[in-house]
Parts: sequence; C-alpha cells; structure tokens
Amino acid sequence: MHLYVHVPFCARRCSYCDFAIAVRREVPSGRFVEAALTEWTQRRRESPVSEWTTLHTLYLGGGTPSRLAPDALGELLDRLSADLPLAAGAEVTLEANPDDVSEAAVDAWRRAGVNRVSLGVQSHDPAVLAWMHRTHSVDQVPAAIAMLRDGGIDNLSLDLIFALPAELERDWTADLERTLALAPDHISLYGLTIEPASPLGRWLARGEVVPSSDDRYAAEYLEAHRQLVAAGFEHYEVSNAARPGRRASHNSAYWTGAEFLGIGPGAHSFLGGARSWNLREWAAWERALAEGGDPRESAEPLSAAQRRLESIYLGLRTTGGLPGAELPESTVATWLEAGWAERIGDRIRLTVEGWLRLDALVAGVEGS
Ligand code: SF4
Repeated sequence: MHLYVHVPFCARRCSYCDFAIAVRREVPSGRFVEAALTEWTQRRRESPVSEWTTLHTLYLGGGTPSRLAPDALGELLDRLSADLPLAAGAEVTLEANPDDVSEAAVDAWRRAGVNRVSLGVQSHDPAVLAWMHRTHSVDQVPAAIAMLRDGGIDNLSLDLIFALPAELERDWTADLERTLALAPDHISLYGLTIEPASPLGRWLARGEVVPSSDDRYAAEYLEAHRQLVAAGFEHYEVSNAARPGRRASHNSAYWTGAEFLGIGPGAHSFLGGARSWNLREWAAWERALAEGGDPRESAEPLSAAQRRLESIYLGLRTTGGLPGAELPESTVATWLEAGWAERIGDRIRLTVEGWLRLDALVAGVEGS
C-alpha cells in the first residue's frame, strides 16, 4: 500500500531534466490538489486499491512538490489520510528544493505529516549549479538542512549528480566530502544521462557539450561507494546509500516488486500485475479529470517473461540480490569469476563493480 503523488510544477527546467513538469511562476496549488483528489477517488473505487486498509508509504515527488502552497499540501494529506489512514510509522516523503525551505514551510510540512525530506542538492559548486540551471545557491543547502532539523524533520536524504562533462572541472571528491559533512541519513546518486528532450540534449545535438567518459563515470561511482562505506553508510541499492535504519521504505517497495499507485501527471502505477501510466502533460491530465475521464494514457499487463526479467533486474539492484536459481548457471559462474557478483548462501548479489554494469548484465540474462 504505497502511494506516489507527482507534483509537476517547477520554477524552471534544469538543464538535464526531461521529466513530466510544468514550468510555472505561480503554482496552481488548489487546482492541483482538487484534481489529485479526484484521481485518488477514481482509483480508490477500483480493485485492488479498494481493498487497501492503510497506507504504508506516501511519496510526493516531481517536479518540485515543495513549491505547492503549504496549506494546499496540508489539505491534500489530510484528505488522503482521512480516506485511508497512515499505518503507524508510515514514511511520508516530500521532495524539496533547498530554496523552497523556510521555517514556516517546514512547520507546515511537519504538521501535514511529512516526516522525511529528499533534498535536491546535486552539487556544492556554484558554477555547476548554474550550468544545471538549478534555482538554489550553495549556501541554501546547509541553511535548509538546519531549518528542517530544527523544525522536527530529521530524516533527510540528499540527491547528488555525478559523471558531469569534464569541461566543468567538477571536484567530485570534494562534493562528496561536503555532503557527508552535512550528516544526511540517506544519499541518492545519479549518473548524468543526456536525454534528447532535455536542454542538455539540445546542447549535445549542437556540439556544445561533451558527455563524461565511461572511465570518469566509473571512477566517480567507485569513489562515492568508497567514501559512503567509510562514513558508515550501507550502499544498499545501485543508486542509494543509507545510515543503518534509514533506508527509503517507499523506494524499497519499488525494488521488491511491491504494488503501488501513482497519481498526478505522468505518474506510473503497478497494480494487479499490470503497469499503467498517466497522461504526461499537466493540462491534459487536469482536463481529463475535470471531464470525468480516466487520466491514464495506457496500461500494459506484464507477461510471465516480463515479470521474470523485472524481478531479476530489481533483485540485482539491491544488496538483497536474488535466488541464484533464478539465473542461468553459466551466467552466475561468469559473474562470480569476474568479481561482478558474490554468493551469499543461496542468493546472488552484485558487487559494486557489477552495479557499474547492471544494464549490460541484465541484457545478457535477457538474451540467454
Ligand atoms: S527541479 Fe527536478 S523536476 Fe524540476 S526541472 Fe529540475 S530536475 Fe526537473
């Protein structure tokens, strides 16, 4: 019983971003909340959501959900939890940009039930933040963290992006050290990918940027692993590390193949053995709901072969791994020999060297 709410609004588009967002100076918070609750009511009538009794995790992602007016966010969470109570200890995460954090906002978020914040830090280098078109400054990150902690939200995750173009001369080691000095509970690491529909994709097409080399990607990923483990973090998923007891429950549900409902523009769901996804554009999604229609763009039941592959892919993402019997013996032997995997009892899990090759290894299984 996991719910994702996609809040699409951003102040501007970051250079690397191709997500389903709507750039708005003024966020139509009230309209968004009404539309999201309309979708929730629709989906709540359908099985299996109709059988849900409590909500174990709620994740407000985006976009930039911290740009929703705090009272609108409070109303959204109040009305959702009035319909479906939060389980004891439920994780309620809000993605936030550092420049949206204020004492008043933190107070409103905490009163609304938010108990975890995922902060989009990305880098501590002003030139890199400017290149990324981020709206926050370097100094706003420690200030935001202090306000969150002082305001009673002490479960904090920080996002960082690595493998930037060499011309930026980004000091990744220093960025990691500055991040660890902020004592977060959780860190998410994203290797930069250049999406054709992002501003960066257009820069690439015009020859204005040279992507990071694979060697740089690997070196920075391994350096992150080294620093995080040395600082006492568990690198528990290919892109995520946590202090003991601070793993992300919502994301962990995805990685274990649990069912979840997503509402909001572009949100994905996995329910009853089928994936579905919503209309991506804010206006189209809102209009569909206003007209009493279904905002889903499409749905796809997963075949047995797709489910097998998905379970292999998800299992290999985490330190939990998967039963060795689910993989061809010759594949396991090759991975063990190369140092890409290790055997823990009857399970196989990838090493950090294996995670560097995750997609290729899964593609190899698919072709076997
Ligand atoms: S804040 Fe996040 S969702 Fe919004 S444009 Fe930047 S990367 Fe994309």
